[in-house]
Amino acid sequence: MLSQKINNIAFSGTMEIAAKTIEMQNAGIDVVNLCVGEPDLPTPEHIKEAAKIAITNDQTKYTSNSGLVELKIAIQKKYAREYRIKFSSDEIIISNGAKQSVYNAVQTVVNSDDEVIVPAPYYVSYIDMIKLAGGKPKIVKTSAQNNFKVSTSDLEQSITPKTKAIILCNPSNPTGAVFSKTELEQIVEVCLSNNLIIISDEIYEKLIYASTKFTSIASLGKNTIENSIIINGVSKAYSMTGWRIGYALASKKIVEGMNKLQSHSTSAACTISQHAAIAALNGSQECVEEQRKIFEKRKNFIAKELTKINSISFTMPDGAFYFFIDISKVIDNSKSISNSREFCFKLLDEGLVATVPGSVFGMENFIRISYSKSMDELKTAIARFRNFVENIV
Ligand code: PMP
Repeated sequence: MLSQKINNIAFSGTMEIAAKTIEMQNAGIDVVNLCVGEPDLPTPEHIKEAAKIAITNDQTKYTSNSGLVELKIAIQKKYAREYRIKFSSDEIIISNGAKQSVYNAVQTVVNSDDEVIVPAPYYVSYIDMIKLAGGKPKIVKTSAQNNFKVSTSDLEQSITPKTKAIILCNPSNPTGAVFSKTELEQIVEVCLSNNLIIISDEIYEKLIYASTKFTSIASLGKNTIENSIIINGVSKAYSMTGWRIGYALASKKIVEGMNKLQSHSTSAACTISQHAAIAALNGSQECVEEQRKIFEKRKNFIAKELTKINSISFTMPDGAFYFFIDISKVIDNSKSISNSREFCFKLLDEGLVATVPGSVFGMENFIRISYSKSMDELKTAIARFRNFVENIV
């Protein structure tokens, strides 16, 4: 009954464990959920207020398919302010979340049988988005030794005449890795000299820690921008995941293509949410920094606690709100667990902590934990996690 296209993709892997977590919580079991992929803080008041005003003022009809002019201006101002780059309004398209922006980007540039490079571990939806476009994901593994950053030599080796594009996630979900400027420039050079389109998912742009500096593709010059599709949005920076506003910056031609596609699927993003996004981008950016500081504190706490646990290891994340933890030793020493999925389900059942198996992100022997939880919940979770790992058989 179902199309081949649908049979060929999987339900988002993070959902399997999340569904079981909800089931347990509904049954009254006290699980700490570290699967979350969104900031736990409320959307700032001035942003909510802008949405209320939009409703009161009857801003409740369709907007232009590619988004409100005022929102595009707010995005233009942001990139001028932060990266000294001018995007014209026909180089911007607003969608229903960054996820739709990536989806539209992939559909717009990928032909049947085109290969698209995806460094692993990856954000799970990239793979299925490529398949839905008829393309072939070409997975390039990274390692903890390289801080989960794809090397130029691995990248070069994976390019064939059929390679059309690469999807970079910077900062990375699930590892928190952030490319330095030099690293990104080197990757870009390989991509451009092989005529690849760079789809750069920069949704975690504002969650950067310690002395790490974030480099946007937007700051690497005209030639890079012309061959790239930059994905961003308000979901993570302003704690606005439910408002569903993302956007893409690309050449006029690509934006036209994405706009055509969007005109036959969802049309414009929610008008009220677009007004809220204008307030987010044009308003004071203090809330962004406040949130970042809260996450940094949590990250440092988790890092300190994880170092106390024998038989696991981790790379210090520089961005986003995840730790990608190596559990290979635990698996080696255990008689009852043979992979990351089994580890996560056992940890959920017995340790009452929900985490995501690395296999979901294309890398076995790891798990992802999110620290988008209150300090109290994190303290409970980490104590349970430690107890579970140290008593595993
Ligand atoms: N890209 C990455 C890497 C993400 O982690 C997420 C959210 N989990 C998205 C895109 C989707 O963002 P949005 O909610 O704006 O669709």
